[in-house]
Amino acid sequence: MYESTRGNLSGQRASQAITLGMVPSGGLFVPSTVPTLNWQDLQGLTYRDVAMRVLTPYLPDFSEAVLSKIVNVYADGTFDGPNPVPLVSVGNFGVLELWHGPTAAFKDMALQVLPDLLKVSLKLFNRDEDVLILVATSGDTGKAALEGFKNREGMHIVVFYPEGGVSPVQERQMTTTEGANTHVVAVNGNFDECQTAVKRIFASKALKEQLQEKDLIFSSANSINWGRLLPQIVYYFWAYLQAVEQGKVTPGGKMNVVVPTGNFGNLQAAYYAKRMGLPIGRIICASNKNNVLVDFFATGVYQSQRDFFQTISPSMDILISSNFERFLYEMSGRNGDQIQIWYDANNQGTFTVDPVTLKQCQDTVYAGWADEEETLETISRSYKTYQYVFDPHTAVAMKVYEDYLSATNDQTFTVIASTASPFKFASNVLIGLEGKKQESWGDEWKALDYLSQVTGWKIPIGLQGLDKKPAKPADTSEPEGIMELLQKMFT
Ligand SMILES: *Cc1c(COP(=O)(O)O)cnc(C)c1O
Repeated sequence: MYESTRGNLSGQRASQAITLGMVPSGGLFVPSTVPTLNWQDLQGLTYRDVAMRVLTPYLPDFSEAVLSKIVNVYADGTFDGPNPVPLVSVGNFGVLELWHGPTAAFKDMALQVLPDLLKVSLKLFNRDEDVLILVATSGDTGKAALEGFKNREGMHIVVFYPEGGVSPVQERQMTTTEGANTHVVAVNGNFDECQTAVKRIFASKALKEQLQEKDLIFSSANSINWGRLLPQIVYYFWAYLQAVEQGKVTPGGKMNVVVPTGNFGNLQAAYYAKRMGLPIGRIICASNKNNVLVDFFATGVYQSQRDFFQTISPSMDILISSNFERFLYEMSGRNGDQIQIWYDANNQGTFTVDPVTLKQCQDTVYAGWADEEETLETISRSYKTYQYVFDPHTAVAMKVYEDYLSATNDQTFTVIASTASPFKFASNVLIGLEGKKQESWGDEWKALDYLSQVTGWKIPIGLQGLDKKPAKPADTSEPEGIMELLQKMFT
């Protein structure tokens, strides 16, 4: 069963949690008990079968046959290569490449199964309405969600992205999506403003009723939806199995993970994997210059009212880290009343936790951050040392890992979650590698070819020929105008 992080709802089935996306009266769905799973029992299985084992205890209302079909996406060629999520040995650590899906970012890991999870959930929840998916994106979720949901019967998707806040490749990926049921909107604001506007829409009774008349209900493909977070737990088990197989970790020995973090979904998935019994040691949270979480872990004060920085790792440019609420729920001893107080709208994203909760947080997660200069320097230095090319998000993680090593000298085998292909951010990667300005290789599209030339790495299929594909220009809106725009589109 699932319950709310704010103590205002409990006893909900998985299908209800996935259909609703978030708790209607505020809060996020979390499993009431975290199942345990013995990693030894997964040895020798394929990724698809590991996914089946991890997902099953969380989805008791899904039949085995249905679930088995859903996880097939990990075995049917949707993910490149013989191993959908390779653990690559770099130096004496591992890089878990989560970007071999259709859009070259880790969001595919979940968004290739979410539409099916949602479709089945609707049926199990006895809803026969069409569903309207609203997505706020800092860049990568948008395209991955569009790919997952395009041309799905009974589903419509609208993606909102911050105008000027995503990379040219990310923008082009979104506006070139085919599918009659897809809409893309550029919002005049930053990602937090986008996300807050979308959350307001979810909370709007009036719009909900107007849509209900058209037989439409809302859901979310953001990582606030449990169906988004759940599939991400799988790859931490997969990383461990590979680390054991490669002889990097003795069976049962600990493995650390470093997660480049924005909305805290990926990190929260690592936390659940640990809770399920996977021998994870330290979970290391890596932020960019928007280091609200690093300050929190140092002081216990979550202060989201601060300057927002647009960085070269745009998918981490987030100050209101949604899934952190799930983390705090666990760290506070599942104290829903307390979470309700901290997340009260009047606090506007600023609160201070008690010393006991803070200690619990600090014992579970180490947090660090890297600025842009350090990120570029890390891309260049890592390439020279290891001939491995990090995208700017993963480079932030790499730098924080190095800082962690010098601070602790912890020699535990460590896996860096690599969240995007470097080609998704080719210009900035080249600025790191070559130390030159963009003009020396031309526009963003030439940058992809040039990066391929310089490194000998192949451009992922999903990013090839993007500049030649026909694009459907995005609608534009002020954050306050989103409601009206949706009314125009759907009522
Ligand atoms: C979404 C994203 C992140 C942040 O992940 P969260 O789950 O939101 O913390 C990091 N890197 C890339 C490339 C992303 O697309």
